[in-house]
Amino acid sequence: MRNKAIVLLSYATIAMIAMICIIQMVLLAQDVQPANIPESIQRYFWRSQLITLLLGLSALAIIFFTENIHSSLKRNAYTDITGIMNKHACMEQMSILDCRDSTVGIGLAMFDLNNLKKVNDFYGHEAGDLLIQQFVILLRQCAEKKFFLGRFGGDEFIVIIQNCDESIMLNFLEHVSKSVEKNNTANTIGISYACGFAISTRQQYYLVDELLKEADKKMYQNKKIIKSGELTEPQQISKVLDSDRVNSSEKDGLTGMFSHDTFVSTVTKVLQIYNDRSRLALVCSDIHNFRFFNELYGHKEGDHILRQFSIELNRQPFCLCSYRLYSDNFAFLADVSQFSEEQAVEMIQAWNIRFAASIDNAYPGSRFILKSGIYFLSNFHESVETMLNNAECARKSSKPNFQNIVVYSDELSREVKLRFDTVNSFQRALDCHEFHVYVQPKVSRRNKKICSAEALVRWQKSDGIFLPPDTFVPILEQSGDIINMDFYVYEKVFEYLYQQQLNEKTVTPLSVNVSRVHLTMTESFMERISRLHSRYPVPPSLITFELTESAYIQEIYSAEQFVNRLHALGYRVSMDDFGSGYSSLKGLYPMHFDEVKFDQAFIRNEITEEAGNWLIRLINLVKSLNTTIVCEGVETDENITLLEQSKCDLFQGYYFYKPFPLGDLAALVD
Ligand code: C2E
Ligand code: CA
Ligand code: CA
Repeated sequence: MRNKAIVLLSYATIAMIAMICIIQMVLLAQDVQPANIPESIQRYFWRSQLITLLLGLSALAIIFFTENIHSSLKRNAYTDITGIMNKHACMEQMSILDCRDSTVGIGLAMFDLNNLKKVNDFYGHEAGDLLIQQFVILLRQCAEKKFFLGRFGGDEFIVIIQNCDESIMLNFLEHVSKSVEKNNTANTIGISYACGFAISTRQQYYLVDELLKEADKKMYQNKKIIKSGELTEPQQISKVLDSDRVNSSEKDGLTGMFSHDTFVSTVTKVLQIYNDRSRLALVCSDIHNFRFFNELYGHKEGDHILRQFSIELNRQPFCLCSYRLYSDNFAFLADVSQFSEEQAVEMIQAWNIRFAASIDNAYPGSRFILKSGIYFLSNFHESVETMLNNAECARKSSKPNFQNIVVYSDELSREVKLRFDTVNSFQRALDCHEFHVYVQPKVSRRNKKICSAEALVRWQKSDGIFLPPDTFVPILEQSGDIINMDFYVYEKVFEYLYQQQLNEKTVTPLSVNVSRVHLTMTESFMERISRLHSRYPVPPSLITFELTESAYIQEIYSAEQFVNRLHALGYRVSMDDFGSGYSSLKGLYPMHFDEVKFDQAFIRNEITEEAGNWLIRLINLVKSLNTTIVCEGVETDENITLLEQSKCDLFQGYYFYKPFPLGDLAALVD
């Protein structure tokens, strides 16, 4: 608006000057002598000439300023904050070049800053702007005056060179590269850029926008190469990880490690700097028996150990940053880019062992063990909380003393979820009678008649899914819920036998499985069994308790007591899965068992004649200890032929019967 007024004013002035000049010229043309003109008119004439002169001068001044304003407006419209041409100007320049007859000799280079986003994120936008300006200064220094420099986008720049050939272009690019290198050695925030160029020649002719496309394509190829080679940008990383920038309120008071929030934000920043090709791991570690250590050496020494742990951990070259989750639980982010996953696990394991050994040396008898869960980051955009959860999930799955380090996997996560769902839904399932008792008969070797049957539990979930015991029994053993589940089965078995007996129907002896968990609480087990017996008084000899060999051997002392107590109440006891793992002659002699069940592994696969003979001798040997022998997993004619040669008493397996509901047993036996 203001500009328009100035232009109008200057045109009006020019018009007035022109008018006065015309009047004077008319007067001169009519040959009017000054003497003939009255004095008042002469005065007027001179005044008007003076005014004309003044107006002329001011018009000139106005035109001069207008021009200046014009050119500065034009400059502003075409330049960027960096002082070089903006995108609009770039486009205009390109369309000017496009109007030419030929583009031969036009070269176009395109530059893109690689790290602008990262710099903006870490150091703020001012630092980002400064980086752009720095780069522009370098470009200007390297470019000749006749080169056209323009900022094409946020972090994209173009340089157009006329009368260009490859050597001119390469020369210029090398100059830029060297200047940037020199700049980076002197500055904390380094410039990293990708570039591509194209030159239109007679052999390779490009229209102007094709030149732009080609340069852009080459630039992206270059960018890819840079990214794949660029694992870390140490300057940025060290700045992010510099723990001095974190004030004490953001650190753990005892160990000086980061607080939760600082750790999360630091990891987030680090992930933005690293590219997806780097191998990073989030590790959660826990001191296994720290309570024991505190009790033995006191809390002051305990605190000292935690501080020591923090110092040592942060000294490890792989540790980028760490934090204390709570008490003796820590998490850290590890850069293991130079290693394979296996090597990384070994390295972290080795550090765990080294640290534990140093504590063990200084504090004899502390039995110091570090357990760790490792989550190798697969997706850098995942939330840090998810990463922590995964590492924690792996850590919790570690088994102290024999598997102190566990790597997270999707399978592990599914297991954890299953465990969680199982434990969570157990009580409701029990109340809703989702557990069902199935039985699998044991038949006599001699006449193949059913002599007894084993009760096997099944879980039919509300959605109809049928779960075999292997999927939930181990989980319920861990949570302790197996106790109530087993007693649910026992009650069904007692009740069934009692009802059969009451109704004077066929009574088939039944076996039930005993989880190893019961062995740790013999007293309450026997009490509950006695209570069941008072409710459903059946001859105890009708019930056999199957105790696995491994449970028996592991807790041999309490297991012996357990077996004795059951015998004292009149129940039978069986050694289940004999030969499946920890076979020990000590477990067999003296013989505490009324029955020994040979594990199905003995006959599962095709066995050689030699192995068959050996099995027969083993069965006969155990039989000589005066016990009932059952062979499990009998599936084929070959199994039968082999076992017929032994002194095995009972067969159990799919060859005869698969497990079926307890309610169907009587009809089958009858
Ligand atoms: P187990 O006590 O050794 O039970 C024998 C398992 O072998 C049963 O699997 C049975 O169905 C299966 N089996 C029987 N004959 C054959 C055969 O010819 N071929 C094959 N391949 N398998 C055969 P199931 O019912 O899935 O039970 C698995 C395990 O779960 C049991 O092994 C037992 O350790 C546990 N379990 C089952 N019910 C209970 C229970 O009520 N309480 C407790 N604590 N554990 C139970
Ligand atoms: Ca069994
Ligand atoms: Ca078994």
